[in-house]
Amino acid sequence: GSAPTSGAHSGSGRAISATKGDILVSCQGLQKSFGDREVMKSIDFDMRAGDITVIIGRSGSGKSTLLRAIAGLTDPDDGRMVFDGEVVFEDQKRTPAWKQVDSHVGMIFQSYTLWPHMDVLKNLTLAPRKRLGMTEKDALGRAEKALAEVGMADHIHSKPVQLSGGERQRVAIARALMMQPKLLLCDEITSALDPPVAAEVLDVLRRLKEEEGIAVALVTHDMAFASKAADRVVFFHQGEIAVNTTPDEAFNHTEDPELKKFIEAVR
Ligand code: ADP
Ligand code: MG
Repeated sequence: GSAPTSGAHSGSGRAISATKGDILVSCQGLQKSFGDREVMKSIDFDMRAGDITVIIGRSGSGKSTLLRAIAGLTDPDDGRMVFDGEVVFEDQKRTPAWKQVDSHVGMIFQSYTLWPHMDVLKNLTLAPRKRLGMTEKDALGRAEKALAEVGMADHIHSKPVQLSGGERQRVAIARALMMQPKLLLCDEITSALDPPVAAEVLDVLRRLKEEEGIAVALVTHDMAFASKAADRVVFFHQGEIAVNTTPDEAFNHTEDPELKKFIEAVR
């Protein structure tokens, strides 16, 4: 229960101080097991403000687990997380500064997570109205802006069932934008879409980076997008980050045998 806010930032957190190029998220020695299966072995991973980080790797290698840990949908068993210079997770628990993550990090999934019985506007405004106590007028204004940013302004009164898959994912992005995130975590959000439609959705992310300075961490198999839009490419292999480099290095010069095999397989 945080106090209603208005103005520069979205939720109960303070404004973000990291500017482009600064480290926004730092994961240090993150570990997670399910039973005796080590899904994250000891993940060290930094993400910079305003960067697009593409995360690739085989199914089951731990990509979603890392994104879910950063979003707070699952807690690591061990390790540390720092967000915008503040320790948000340590000694197996979240610190009070965790509210920064809640305020500034949005996540979008592969399957459509819009409420089917509500129109687009209601889907967008429900959480900010409830969580931030935003007025109807403010929420409407923010929804119009968010929909314009994803090219869906004309669909404000549509129901999800009336939208194509690509349109639904763009609305899902707009819904995340309602909280004015500094970081968007996207888990295979275009996997169910045809390539040209997927490209349009991914292009929205690139625009958000360029125009709003939003950082994006994206799990995808779309190597074309990764090579042209990513600032960093991170390759997961068996619960570890095997490669963390530039797209040019990853796709044209890597010596990592597993990454080479992976790239051959998805080509
Ligand atoms: P990826 O996204 O790279 O496909 P995940 O992070 O989803 O991989 O999963 C890594 C491994 O962890 C997989 O073997 C998966 O079955 C297992 N796993 C993920 N979530 C759970 C869970 N809630 N309970 C048990 N095992 C899980
Ligand atoms: Mg996954």
